[in-house]
Amino acid sequence: MSSKKKQLFKIIILGDSGVGKTSLMNQYVNARFTQQYRATVGADFMAKEVMIDDRMVTLQIWDTAGQERFQSLGGAFYRGADCCVLVYDITNPKSFDSLDSWRDEFLMQGQPKDPEHFPFVVLGNKLDKATERKVQESKAQQWCKSHGNIQFFEVSAKDATNIEQAFQDIAKAAASQEKDEEIFFPTTVTLTKQDPKKQTKQGGCC
Ligand code: GDP
Ligand code: MG
Repeated sequence: MSSKKKQLFKIIILGDSGVGKTSLMNQYVNARFTQQYRATVGADFMAKEVMIDDRMVTLQIWDTAGQERFQSLGGAFYRGADCCVLVYDITNPKSFDSLDSWRDEFLMQGQPKDPEHFPFVVLGNKLDKATERKVQESKAQQWCKSHGNIQFFEVSAKDATNIEQAFQDIAKAAASQEKDEEIFFPTTVTLTKQDPKKQTKQGGCC
């Protein structure tokens, strides 16, 4: 695989507990949303095939397992990422304030080869609750600008606003990092009961 173009990109989603990381992934991959709160159990990822620049690639989107509450995800979770998605909730200023530490955590643990140019994408989620907004869009735009022109979208995992567009950009950002190296893959992957059509896998993180 070393001389070929990569077919598989690893994307990780970070942000405070409750901002909607699992819901975003679920909306994008399965076009589903559930109101019910369920802390993610077990590190897992979902895969989805997308077209980027006329070629089909697989996005492997990694979700946290609830450990984000303690910021103890471990290096294996971060390593080999091609794009890091930072999520906050537009109704929760504290989750926005946490973006800095999530970014730092990623850079420290993931150790990307070119940290200055590593692609992050910021998603301000729960746009359907704009009447309860506590984080102004301009403030988030400013943060993104001052951290190396990070791409930014306000989205809703609930009504799917901007989800397709955001993940299209996330995929492109990941592909822009194209490196001639193999993607990190967990050594132990436990497949759980699933609908094979959905291409959803659950992996025990190492
Ligand atoms: P995670 O801890 O970051 O993975 O967050 P979850 O995906 O588990 O979502 C936490 C809670 O927020 C759940 O009750 C979701 O139903 C809710 N939620 C997630 N995204 C949205 C959204 O876009 N709009 C609204 N109104 N609620 C959302
Ligand atoms: Mg979750």
